[in-house]
Amino acid sequence: MDTVHIIDLQFKKIPNSIAAFLVETSEGPILIESGPESTFEALQSGVEKIGYQIEDIQHVFLSHIHFDHAGAAWKFANHGAKIYLHPKGAPHLANPDKLWNSAKMIYGDQMEELWGEMKAIPPSQLISMTDGQTISIGSTSLKAWFTPGHAVHHIAWQHGDTVFTGDVAGVKIDGGPVTPPCPPPDIHIEDWKKSIERIKALQPTALYLTHYGKVIEIDTHFEELELILDDWAVWIKGYYEKKVEQQEVVPLFITYTQNQLKKSGLSKETLDKYEKANPSWMSVAGLYRYWKIKEKLAKTEQ
Ligand SMILES: [Zn+2]
Repeated sequence: MDTVHIIDLQFKKIPNSIAAFLVETSEGPILIESGPESTFEALQSGVEKIGYQIEDIQHVFLSHIHFDHAGAAWKFANHGAKIYLHPKGAPHLANPDKLWNSAKMIYGDQMEELWGEMKAIPPSQLISMTDGQTISIGSTSLKAWFTPGHAVHHIAWQHGDTVFTGDVAGVKIDGGPVTPPCPPPDIHIEDWKKSIERIKALQPTALYLTHYGKVIEIDTHFEELELILDDWAVWIKGYYEKKVEQQEVVPLFITYTQNQLKKSGLSKETLDKYEKANPSWMSVAGLYRYWKIKEKLAKTEQ
């Protein structure tokens, strides 16, 4: 089995928050996830520490196109690398203006500091996958499994008996509990659960979470994830139905989720990492949108 290296991107100078994965193949190193452009220096020094140069990486596999997973992919495309991703993500990386501008509405002038720069990738270097398709690099194979729920353009990459799960297997930091990142606009609880079933059916022996690292207790991990996904969705639904403004809900949700995390005896430092990797305000917005769409659908069906 190929060696997998976890590179800590030290997002906002915090360890164990965002990872990229370097896999050594018989044809050189490949990368799963690029992280945002703002952490490119950390990625570069991580790659060099393993003994390679950035230019050696000719294949980059993305779980999805959120900035913290894909923001630096164009840097690799610049030296000719191929970027493998979901067909629904490809147009956004070919022309990132729309993605950037809609994120800017949320992050405002913090955009550059958080995510760095984003430049277009030539469409000829963006390789859109089909569900179940395998890419072979030397003796290494990666298989794309479409896994919506967190994002419609999400892929979990199977590598032998392990899976790089992007965000669909949630966030788990420093051995704490698993939590689901629920940003707008694609959150879909039912699809997410189906995606979990898909990954479980592969019977992996390990998962690699972008936030953060290797998980081997797979059954309990997914059990916990499904429970907390329902728990958060139902909690938010209560406020959504009472038409409480989102900005009023955010501090309540932070208290609610921090108390859940504290029950596991997490340190203040780890609580901070969870909030950085999976901000509460985003999940409030994402789950409000989920319930709103569900309500609309129910109305049109009547
Ligand atoms: Zn994401």
